[in-house]
Amino acid sequence: MSETIGKQVAQLNKNSIDLEGTPLEPTSEIKSIWSMVHAEMRKEFGEAIFRSWLKPLTLQAYYHGTMEVSVPTRFMRDWIQTHYSKRISEMCAQENAEIKRVQIVVIQNNVIDAAPEVSVDTKKNSITSKSAALRDNIAEISSPLDQRFTFDSFVVGKPNALAHAAARRVCESASVPFNPLFIYGGVGLGKTHLMHAIAHSMAENFPEKVVMYLSAEKFMYQFVKALRANETMNFKEQFRSVDILMIDDIQFIAGKESTQEEFFHTFNALVDQNKQIIISADKSPSDLTGIDERLRSRLAWGLVADIHPSTYDLRLGILRSKREKLGAEVPDSVLEFLALKVTSNIRELEGALNRIVAHADVSNQEITLESTQEVLQDLLRSHDRRITIDEIQRKVADHYNLRLTDMHSARRARNVARPRQVAMYLAKLLTARSLPEIGRKFGGRDHTTVMHAIRKVEELMGDDAQIAQDVDVVRRALTG
Ligand code: ADP
Ligand code: MG
Repeated sequence: MSETIGKQVAQLNKNSIDLEGTPLEPTSEIKSIWSMVHAEMRKEFGEAIFRSWLKPLTLQAYYHGTMEVSVPTRFMRDWIQTHYSKRISEMCAQENAEIKRVQIVVIQNNVIDAAPEVSVDTKKNSITSKSAALRDNIAEISSPLDQRFTFDSFVVGKPNALAHAAARRVCESASVPFNPLFIYGGVGLGKTHLMHAIAHSMAENFPEKVVMYLSAEKFMYQFVKALRANETMNFKEQFRSVDILMIDDIQFIAGKESTQEEFFHTFNALVDQNKQIIISADKSPSDLTGIDERLRSRLAWGLVADIHPSTYDLRLGILRSKREKLGAEVPDSVLEFLALKVTSNIRELEGALNRIVAHADVSNQEITLESTQEVLQDLLRSHDRRITIDEIQRKVADHYNLRLTDMHSARRARNVARPRQVAMYLAKLLTARSLPEIGRKFGGRDHTTVMHAIRKVEELMGDDAQIAQDVDVVRRALTG
């Protein structure tokens, strides 16, 4: 052991320049190992992730089994550390077993953050000379921003972690980390919230930059208006003069050929000028029907980040944060109940909480589980249509080609245990049975087992499209 280290030190001394505090120059062997590992990352993690996060990793030094690599921002370091560094260390160790760890340091002074500083300054001058009228115009075209939709009020959980991280990343760097940033997900999952958060944060971090945020619908409206008034040149100039263009709900221009055409040109012009574009949609670029193939492939060219359906934990987190903001006395049990029952989207979840808080205010009553059930009767009824646990077990067993007895048995093989967990989850979701009651119906299991099953299924639904689909299919079959 000490011999190896001794050898390394000797080698380091031979090959490195060691000025006080300056990192030791890595040997050519270490350099070539790093470039192999770097290339492997691209293969293993895929082009989009590589380009967004891993490409900037730069080898700085090597000492005592530690490979020191740098990234330009703290945020990138933290993200890589949590998501990729373990695997990167393994990859290095595979190339050479003496490499024990990879250390990521932040070096802000490299090209990525430093270079744009200069352009920001130049920009400032050009903007002041750019007519103030143009700025006013752009402010007029932009849609208003909701002051509540900030990063601070956005609760991060597994289903939205990537989209959130990508949004933060865009706001953090003066350069354009990926273009476009494309965020997609179902209704009410936080796309608009994130878009507004980016716009707020950009205005704060880079006040000299011109940010234009608008819905695709408004983009089309502006375009058609310009066409009618014979002012398309003006329109083009306005859109091409922004630094950051954000278009919400791009699916709206599906089937609208000339608007798409114009958007395509605007898009290309901005990308050519290295201006950031951020798009949201309800579907991934490849699933956007009615949008021209050329445009779809352009949309997928940067970073595509999806927001998955919310999980129990995320819904609970959002409710807690909302409770704090409202300053209302809402028992945890009520929040847990809501997180379990109101699963369709976050907007509905917030609406449910607002309703019970408003009701308690008006009636001057405490909020309890009972009062919640009463106030939200109509909302909850749609979820509770007298479905029995037996029915759920039958449907789940059918769906997974199992026997009904597998729902009660003690077998723990995954192909049986997982469907059983799905059935428990649906039992809690679709019936008014308590956890112990559900446990009894599943071969006398404990209520903590049921709780665990519910959490597990929630979590899997966020990660695994197959499970999410299975649950959805059975649920639809049950609720008709
Ligand atoms: P979308 O644009 O995806 O349809 P929105 O951004 O309008 O959804 O979100 C709907 C509501 O849910 C908004 O009030 C928003 O603040 C809230 N919301 C969604 N996701 C979150 C989150 N992660 N944290 C806090 N609030 C959220
Ligand atoms: Mg929206």
